Amino acid sequence: MFVIKIGGAAGIDYSNLCADIAQLAAQGQPIVLFHGGSDGANTLGEQLGHPPRFITSPSGHTSRQTDRRTLEIFMMATALLNRQLVEHLRGLGVNAFGLSGLDGGLLQGTRKTNVRAVENGRVRVIRDDWTGSIDQVNRGLLQMLLSAGYLPVIAPLAVSAAGEPLNIDGDRGAASVAAALEAETLLLLTNVSGLYRNFPDESSLIAHLPRTELAHASEKLAQGRMKKKLLGAQTALEAGVRRVIIGDGRSEQPVSAALAGNGTIIE
Ligand code: ADP
Repeated sequence: MFVIKIGGAAGIDYSNLCADIAQLAAQGQPIVLFHGGSDGANTLGEQLGHPPRFITSPSGHTSRQTDRRTLEIFMMATALLNRQLVEHLRGLGVNAFGLSGLDGGLLQGTRKTNVRAVENGRVRVIRDDWTGSIDQVNRGLLQMLLSAGYLPVIAPLAVSAAGEPLNIDGDRGAASVAAALEAETLLLLTNVSGLYRNFPDESSLIAHLPRTELAHASEKLAQGRMKKKLLGAQTALEAGVRRVIIGDGRSEQPVSAALAGNGTIIE
């Protein structure tokens, strides 16, 4: 089982990605595709007069400030990307099935209350927040789709116990799915070639990162959203996923290239 996560950042060619996935799927490889949506949500937010705002937590993590309107924009943008991926895949003969983590309670999570953000050196508490963490994956639903021959394409939303939709981090979402399915490989495709020792110096790409160095790498080498990718990798490995690869989503055959060892392999 491969779980492939494709970032929402600019610079990704989805037709290359889908062609590569179609080849693997045709060989009988079970695959789940998980996608982001940050870039599309930013653009749509600008167009709808509700531009994105980002907050930094006291521990230094950056995330989208998600009020109700931002959540709605995020749902629209990720739904569009989901349909575009399904369109590409189905055009290539893949039996793709698009859904979000909200549908069928696929990803159950907890809504964050009292999100803390640092502003001008002070900590502010935000209450109108629609982001969440993931507690549980409806594994039966995924297994049902997979065993019926579908390739699930998942948008990054979860659902709270009260039925509220939640904006979730795509890397964490993909990691939870990989863990629930006991996937062999979690592939995190992004718009860099992998983890750089000295970001943004491409020649400092780390080819192999032992699992024991993940915490250090997350703290010292990664900045911004790359930190979340490494946290996702850690969650997946702790849950039994054998390896996590951070690969380049911009390459011509992004999945095959990463599986062939291009990128950062964490195992
Ligand atoms: P995606 O949308 O694909 O999930 P993100 O924007 O969340 O991508 O994360 C990838 C980004 O992380 C890169 O574009 C890069 O700007 C940033 N980054 C921060 N630190 C590093 C690092 N040490 N090595 C590589 N990329 C890094």
